[in-house]
Amino acid sequence: MARIAVIGAGMGAMAAAARLAVAGHRVAVYERGATYGGAVGRYERDGFVFDTGPGLLHVPAVYRDLFVKTGKEPLESCVDLHQPPHDARHVFAGGADVLLPNASRGGVVAALDAAFGDGAGGRWADFLGRAGDAWARARRPLLEEPLIEDTRPLARDPYPALRRRRLLGGTRQASTLAEIGAWELRVPGLAALLDSYAQGYGLDARVAPASAAVLPYLEQTFGTWYVRGGVRELARALYERCVARRVEFAFGAEVVAVAEKDGAVAGVELADGSAAAADHVVSGIGPRPPAGVEPGGGKRGAPGRFTVLLALRGARPAGTAHRTIVHAPSSAEEAAAVFDAGAGPAERPTVTVLRPDDASTRPDGAHEAVTLTATVAPHGPVDWADGALRERYADVLVRAAGAAMPGLADRVMWREVRTPAHTEAETGARGGGVPAPSLAGASGRLLHPANSRPLRGLYAAGGWSHPGGGLPHAGMSGALVAGLIVEGPAFRGSR
Ligand SMILES: Cc1cc2nc3c(=O)[nH]c(=O)nc-3n(C[C@H](O)[C@H](O)[C@H](O)COP(=O)(O)OP(=O)(O)OC[C@H]3O[C@@H](n4cnc5c(N)ncnc54)[C@H](O)[C@@H]3O)c2cc1C
Repeated sequence: MARIAVIGAGMGAMAAAARLAVAGHRVAVYERGATYGGAVGRYERDGFVFDTGPGLLHVPAVYRDLFVKTGKEPLESCVDLHQPPHDARHVFAGGADVLLPNASRGGVVAALDAAFGDGAGGRWADFLGRAGDAWARARRPLLEEPLIEDTRPLARDPYPALRRRRLLGGTRQASTLAEIGAWELRVPGLAALLDSYAQGYGLDARVAPASAAVLPYLEQTFGTWYVRGGVRELARALYERCVARRVEFAFGAEVVAVAEKDGAVAGVELADGSAAAADHVVSGIGPRPPAGVEPGGGKRGAPGRFTVLLALRGARPAGTAHRTIVHAPSSAEEAAAVFDAGAGPAERPTVTVLRPDDASTRPDGAHEAVTLTATVAPHGPVDWADGALRERYADVLVRAAGAAMPGLADRVMWREVRTPAHTEAETGARGGGVPAPSLAGASGRLLHPANSRPLRGLYAAGGWSHPGGGLPHAGMSGALVAGLIVEGPAFRGSR
C-alpha cells in the first residue's frame, strides 16, 4: 500500500483518487478551496440553482466506468442522469432556426435538410462519417492510452479530408475546421454549425486541426446528457464515492511545493508550513502550479468562459430546448476577438443558452433559471475584474440571447455575472483559461503533457494533462494516472 498525495479536488484528481483507493492505496486529497469539484461549481440564491461550470455531460461512459470500477452502485444510482430530447436548437445569424434531436443521425439529417435545403443533411452526415473514421483511428492512442514518448504519430491528422481538384491543377485537402466548412460542407449554415463546436470547446476554427471534427461526432453520436439538480451533482457523487473508498480530504489546504528526495517525490508542502509525506503525488491542477510541478503544457493563453446566470420571472414553456446556440454573425470575427492579441471581447459572440427542464433549479413553476455562456479571452489580456466591462458584456450576451428568447431582458429579476477572473480564483488556472480536449494533428500542438511527469513518482491528472480538458477527458486522465501508478510504466490503457 503506497501513500498518495493528490493536489486539488477537481474531477480529474478525484477520478484518480477513487480508483487508487480501490486499488488499496492510502490516498489524501489536498484542496486549497472550501469544497470539491473545482470548475464544476454551483451558485444558489432565492431558490434558483445554477451550474457555474459545465451544464451538460458528454460521453457518460467515462463516469459509468469509473463508478462500476470503484463500487457497487452504478452511476445511475448515484445521480439522476437524463438525456434531453434535443441535442440543441441552433439560431443562425441569417435567421435559420433548427432543432437538432439528441443522438439521432437520421433526425439531424432531416432537420438540416429542412433548414438549408435538400442535400445539406446528407453532406453533414457524410462529414460525420469521416469524423467517425478519425475517431476510430485516434481514440485509443489519443484518449485511452498514456501519451507515448514519441508523439509523432499523433502529430498527423487522422481526419480523412476529401481531396478536391484545384482549377489550376493539383488537389487540395482541408487541414483546418474552417477549411472543412468552406470546402467540404459548403453551406454557410453547416460551416457555422461546425464553427460553433470549435468555439464551445475554446478552439480557434481558423487553425484548429481537421481532427477537431471528432467533437461534433462525439456529441451527436453518444448524445448530450444532463444530471438533474445540475452537473455539480456529478461532482458530489464522485466526492461521496471517494469518501466511501476512504480517500481523505483536506480543504483549505493549498499545496505550495512538491517535496523531492533522491530524484523522486517525497510528498507535498502546504501553505500553512506543514508537510505530508507520500510515495506518489498526483497533481490535478492547471497552470500556476506550486514549485516542483511544471506548468500545464505552456497553455497560458487558453480562453475562458463568460457566464451570466439569470433569475427569470415567468415559466419555462413546455418543449423548450435544453440548450440553444445563438450563432455569431461572423465566426471568424469572433475567433479573432477571442484568440488574436490585442483584440477586445467580441461584440457579437456565439451564446449558449441553457434552460434545463429541472424543477429543482427554480423556486417554483412561475420562474426559470437560465444560463448564458460565451467563450472569451482569458483574464489578463482582457481585464475581467473591471466591473463596468463585466456588466456591459453581460448586456451583450442578454441581447444576443434575445434572438432565441424574445422578451428575455424584461423577464430578468436579477443576474449574477461570472468571468474568467472567477474561474482563475476557483481553479487556480492562469487567466481562468479552460483547457480544450487534446487533439491529434497540428504537429502535436494541441496535445497536453503526459500523465507521468519527469520527476519519479509525480503524475498529472485533470484538464491540463493528457488527454485534455472537459469532463470526459478529465475522467479519462484519472483512469490513466491510476493505471500508471498501479501497473507501472508498462501500463498501456485498460482494455
Ligand atoms: C465556466 C466553465 C465552463 C465549462 N464548461 C464545460 C463544458 O460545457 N463541458 C465540459 O466538458 N467541460 C467544461 N468545462 C471544463 C471542465 O469543467 C473541466 O475541464 C473539468 O471539470 C476538469 O477539471 P480538472 O480536473 O482539470 O480540475 P479543476 O476544475 O481545474 O480543479 C482544480 C482544483 O484544484 C484546486 N487547486 C488549484 N491549485 C491548488 C493548490 N496549489 N493546492 C491545492 N489545490 C489546488 C482548485 O481549487 C480546484 O478545486 C468548463 C469549465 C469552466 C470553468
